[in-house]
Amino acid sequence: MVSADSRIPQHIAHLMRETVSQARNREVLFVCTQDEEGMLASARAVARGNDGMVPAPEPHMREGQVIVHNHPSGTLNPSDADVSVAARLASQGIGSWIVDNSVRNLYIITEAYEAPKKTELDLQRLADMLLPGGGLSRLQPDFEPRDPQLEMLEEVVKAFNENLIVVSEAGTGVGKSLAYLIPAAAWVLQNRERVVISTATINLQQQILEKDIPTVRRLFKDSGGDEIKVVLAKGRNQYLCQSRLQELIEEEGLFGEEQLDEIRRWAEVTETGDRSDLPFNPDPSLWARVNSDADACSELRCSRRGSCFLQKARKAAASAHIVVTNHHLLFADLAIRKEGFGQDATVILPAFQRLIIDEAHNVEGAATSYFSEEFNRFTLHKYANMLLRQRRSRAGGIIPSLRKSAGVRFEGAEALLQSMRSRVQELDDALLPFLDQQNSLRLAADPNELPGNHEKSELETVLFEQLGRFQQSVLDTVELLADEFKSLDDSDSDEPRIAELRIMIRRLEGVAKICGDFREYATRPDLVYWLDRRRSSAGDRFVHFTATPIEVGPILQEAMFDQYESIVLTSATLSVNKSIQYWQRRVGLLNNDRLVFKSMESPFDYSRRVLLGVPNDAPSPSSGEQYSSWLQGFVMRMLDISEGHALILFTSYSMLTQVYEYCKPLLVQRGITCFRQGDDDRNRLMSSFQKEVSSVLFATHSFWEGIDAPGDALKLLIISRLPFRVPTEPVLLARTDAIQSRGGNPFFELSLPEAVMKLKQGFGRLMRRKSDRGVVLITDNRVITKRYGRNFIDSLPPARLVVESSDRLAGEVERVLYEDMDS
Ligand code: SF4
Repeated sequence: MVSADSRIPQHIAHLMRETVSQARNREVLFVCTQDEEGMLASARAVARGNDGMVPAPEPHMREGQVIVHNHPSGTLNPSDADVSVAARLASQGIGSWIVDNSVRNLYIITEAYEAPKKTELDLQRLADMLLPGGGLSRLQPDFEPRDPQLEMLEEVVKAFNENLIVVSEAGTGVGKSLAYLIPAAAWVLQNRERVVISTATINLQQQILEKDIPTVRRLFKDSGGDEIKVVLAKGRNQYLCQSRLQELIEEEGLFGEEQLDEIRRWAEVTETGDRSDLPFNPDPSLWARVNSDADACSELRCSRRGSCFLQKARKAAASAHIVVTNHHLLFADLAIRKEGFGQDATVILPAFQRLIIDEAHNVEGAATSYFSEEFNRFTLHKYANMLLRQRRSRAGGIIPSLRKSAGVRFEGAEALLQSMRSRVQELDDALLPFLDQQNSLRLAADPNELPGNHEKSELETVLFEQLGRFQQSVLDTVELLADEFKSLDDSDSDEPRIAELRIMIRRLEGVAKICGDFREYATRPDLVYWLDRRRSSAGDRFVHFTATPIEVGPILQEAMFDQYESIVLTSATLSVNKSIQYWQRRVGLLNNDRLVFKSMESPFDYSRRVLLGVPNDAPSPSSGEQYSSWLQGFVMRMLDISEGHALILFTSYSMLTQVYEYCKPLLVQRGITCFRQGDDDRNRLMSSFQKEVSSVLFATHSFWEGIDAPGDALKLLIISRLPFRVPTEPVLLARTDAIQSRGGNPFFELSLPEAVMKLKQGFGRLMRRKSDRGVVLITDNRVITKRYGRNFIDSLPPARLVVESSDRLAGEVERVLYEDMDS
């Protein structure tokens, strides 16, 4: 604390006193400027609060300014909220000060600063790398300069130089990753700021890390630049936790646990502790017991922190110029920063200043799943086991450890934990009958949506009663744990179990809160509360509870778009009928004045190299058996023509199975291998499909995007049905209701554009290289019989469209696949 007149001139102190007095001595927030000596030069009151707090209207402030607010109590120690706001503002260069009502004393939480000016990117120098005779041509003799790639690079340079949000739709083959990596590399080298690049799929991460980054490194080395340090940030559950491994070994011994013994031996030699470096694929349930887990990590208190694999990986990320990660980790990081950690801290990712999101069509989906809150019986069992577990007559977990090391009694803990376990089991037993006839149901729904003869009031009675009982058992446990925690000397002790106990108390409080929220679901129209039935790996049915935000746009705006000076979002599929309005609205970018959108067409010659066929004699997909048996015959006929080399995309696993079972024996007779999604791990399946070039892959959902089979492996793509989402999904229903309630049309505003974007993704699987060619067949006649069908066709790349009978189409397919297309 210092005397206020050392930084606040008399006339400004007077103005502040007067303003506070007019506000009846409550808190007032001033936005101030400083002179070169660091004295306040001006002060403007922008918000008035109560005796305890005042809102901080951040959009009014800019770098180099100071916010000053008074504490009416006269005690100038900053509250937690003051520190949290100050930390956030500090990352924008804004200082935070506190004064008393008489403006005599001053407490400076953070000083303002003006960040050094950034060195702008030299567009010409970077563009030259992509021009004929440029750096890339010299490195890769087969590199072909592409205008759309140059255009995209120009947009990305603008994003960095002018602090913009650039949205760039870049068709397949534009070379978008180099178009953003080159400016990103130049920026980090010139300005020492970190760039995060986030992707949705591992495939793209691999391409960036294994192919593009080495190229960019060489480009910059050749032009006299430094080495660019790039790190892949993975989720903590990918890393071995030595503390948990040791604990498991002590509890279980190694007898009969062959894989555990192998992991122990690997732990002694591995440099990374990264699961992908394990020489075998561990049993997922075993790995879940030895991986790094936020619920079990005592962080600073951990005695193995010095050799911790996760900490090593985080340290490497903290010294990287570019961090490559996935959307899930990015949103996990943004959510924690949003809670007050600010932009300067290392959270899950190290602090970063610029952001590039590839595969940006997935942003809404990834954010929706990340910003949801959820729990189920197994979450509770996990927490209870961390506290106390019995294995082979030995007790393990936080409670027995603290009983032994710190003499804590935890009297009655066994009974309370047992009660939680029983109550959550009763909750599941009571709710599962409501999910007999459908997999999921939402609360606040129209009563008619409930399955069978169940009444909405019946569900609510059972749910509220059982949830209340379970919540009470959790709260009772929390009370005991919190009382014992208070008796421990948290600050002095090195005991990691104390930190773990605190984590467990927070986690259980979180479960109790979700229970409470579910019971009061009607008061939160911005969230959809829903239940779905799942099966554990052992086949047990259980109920999963989820609360999902209906709109993620406002969350993304606050946590992401308002936080970073430049953001580049790119994908091959953002527009519907050449407009990105639908996507903009969904992600909260509709009226953002920093946004610049540019669409870069694919340089591929779709009209000459791809046939888009629609059989006009296909029955309607809603005709059930009739469609299914027609589809089986049609698919087999086309596969006979293509002799395999095909991907068949479905929207449901049951249709996939029917067609697969019909075609498989026939294909085997012809010596063609069949792969089916679900029969093997996704990556292995893809690699077998690529290697066995004449094979056929039958797939659904996740295979509509992110898979790459260039060349001969994929010549024929059949899309069995337009990818509309099931209209019974709770989140979709809630979003539909929200659109309806504001007078919109959910089909045209949500279902249709979403399906168009997904179809574009599916279509994009066929042509991955300029030299590829082939056929895409859409067997859903709605694309030609419904008026909205044009939206699908018009949004696809300009392939040659043929709408004909199956017979005529068969001739066309044969011609395209076997005749010289250029003739
Ligand atoms: S710091 Fe956490 S992740 Fe690392 S070894 Fe310790 S408990 Fe495990």
